[in-house]
Amino acid sequence: MSTSPHTAGISTSQDLGFDPDALRAKYRAERDRRIRPDGNQQYRRLTAEPGSYDDPYTEFVAREPLHDRVDAVVVGGGFGGLLAAARLRQAGVESIRVIEQAGDFGGTWYWNRYPGIHCDIDAYIYLPLLEELGRLPKWKYAPGEEIRQHAMAIGRHFDLYRDACFQTRVSELRWDDTDMEWTVGTDRGDRMRARFVVISSGTLSTPKLPAVPGIETFKGKVFHTSRWDYDYTGGDASGGLHKLADKRVAVIGTGATAIQVVPHLGRDAGHLYVFQRTPSTVDVRGQRPTDPEWAKSLRPGWQKRRRENFLKLVTGIRVDEDLVDDAWTTSARLQEKLIPTNAYADVPAEERERAYEIADFQKMNELRARVDSVVGDPETAEKLKPWYRYMCKRPTFSDTYLDTFNRPDVTLVDTADTHGVERITEGAVVVGDTAYEVDCVIFATGFQVGVSGILSGQLPVYGRGGVNLLQSWTTGGGPKTLHGFTMGGFPNLFLLGPLQNASAVNFVHILDEQASHVAEIVAEARKRQARHVEPTAEAQDAWVATIREKAADLHRFQAECTPGYYNNEGMPRQRSQSYGDGPVAFHELLSRWRAEGGMDDVLGETERPA
Ligand code: NDP
Repeated sequence: MSTSPHTAGISTSQDLGFDPDALRAKYRAERDRRIRPDGNQQYRRLTAEPGSYDDPYTEFVAREPLHDRVDAVVVGGGFGGLLAAARLRQAGVESIRVIEQAGDFGGTWYWNRYPGIHCDIDAYIYLPLLEELGRLPKWKYAPGEEIRQHAMAIGRHFDLYRDACFQTRVSELRWDDTDMEWTVGTDRGDRMRARFVVISSGTLSTPKLPAVPGIETFKGKVFHTSRWDYDYTGGDASGGLHKLADKRVAVIGTGATAIQVVPHLGRDAGHLYVFQRTPSTVDVRGQRPTDPEWAKSLRPGWQKRRRENFLKLVTGIRVDEDLVDDAWTTSARLQEKLIPTNAYADVPAEERERAYEIADFQKMNELRARVDSVVGDPETAEKLKPWYRYMCKRPTFSDTYLDTFNRPDVTLVDTADTHGVERITEGAVVVGDTAYEVDCVIFATGFQVGVSGILSGQLPVYGRGGVNLLQSWTTGGGPKTLHGFTMGGFPNLFLLGPLQNASAVNFVHILDEQASHVAEIVAEARKRQARHVEPTAEAQDAWVATIREKAADLHRFQAECTPGYYNNEGMPRQRSQSYGDGPVAFHELLSRWRAEGGMDDVLGETERPA
């Protein structure tokens, strides 16, 4: 038996109280029963439905095309774009234009306004710039509307509304080597000029629908959760969907969104059918209002300390205190499987893997026991139990979801054996031999991953000599960046997002670190009057080599998971584009890079001697 602290005292099924081999076999069988050969092809983009999914929140406003010049264009008005703009403003950049497809700031929180919407990450670390704005969330887990209002408050605080362009999609970026600036083309006919461009166009922003046969024949009401129709349902994001009282409603999907929506639909609909393919893990929520005494005790710098404490905990770095103290941090060690990090590199790999697996089995046993303790009908409880390793799917948290299935007017329909809903007819959702007659179908089927912006080809970027960025990556052996932000041949262009850097579950924190780093580079470029910002080929090649060398191997883990967007629908990608030592090490690396002359690698010749 090992004497390691990780596995001490654990050896046999008897010691454990469960049989790891039996669980492994069960997980494998549950995976096999769900795998589909069509992988991602089983979905289609929601935008393929012309006209039916326009912005339901803001009237379209006509305007003349713009042909002006700004210092910086920021593509995207979600938290990434807002943080980029805010940090640039703090760095002294005067004219900043945020360009956003929606009618206002907020990104995902603009589009998603479904009943029950909350952020399931501690609000005191999720909402950015709290100290700068002098705001404090009302609840530990903020409702979507509070988050959206906060995004708008950032816009006002940093005077970003002045030059913002809403209801506008950037259709092309083209570098002008003579004037050393970008031309920004949009779907509104704009041709703006900008010295710097930052792209933060989101990772989960294009809604998707399953390509279920007959979907277009349905004669009742149909919408996606990210385009909620309150005219039809009544109520608002806090619930009260009174117009559904006499309606039979189908909700398709049981991911993090459905977990928040279903309790409201269950309460308010005449009858609710929940079509489930793979059950989510549903852990304890523990929502509570902000304690005024705690709020009074906060000292300057508190948000940074709290964010960093959380980030360390969820990426496997040992710390003595747990400031957030919720189901994310207590399950922290298991999350290493999603957030690649080599933080435990000192422990022999095999021993580490066994310790994780045992801890994982224990955690999942607890979650399955929670289902039994809440759901009265044993058959329904059985269907709601998740059989996979914890980080195979996005964890969810709710103290009301499971209980909804105790209602007589709620039916759980398991679709695992048919690989999802089989057919939709004029008036019903069909699974196996049963047609469930419904008045309304709500798709809680999620979003396409990584298709926004550059990687999808929706935003073509032409650099020096008219070179197309995506094409250069496709033909040149994959993306090439320095730290994920800058690219040779594409001067003064910065990317925010998960590519070739290190991410974590509190993605807004990651975006803030990225935005601050980019703003520091821009500030230095302006100070030195550098003509352009662009990594040397050596610096970029060295970073790509580091990404390859450090990449954590997630392939084996993900191949055993039930399919979903975490593992590319059961076909995990071979090569990770993440920095394997994790985000804490990455942030330290950036800080050292800035302090130790890294800027010299990206700042081109100066207009006058520095
Ligand atoms: P997901 O992609 O997580 O879930 C989609 C659901 O639809 C899955 O349950 C999927 O089943 C199901 N599904 C897909 N096709 C079919 C089909 N043909 N028949 C039946 N079911 C089907 O989308 P969500 O919108 O729930 O969440 C997306 C992400 O957004 C989350 O993972 C999270 O990152 C983020 N989010 C964050 C929140 C927060 O509080 N911070 C809240 C909500 C979302 P299967 O699992 O079998 O594929």
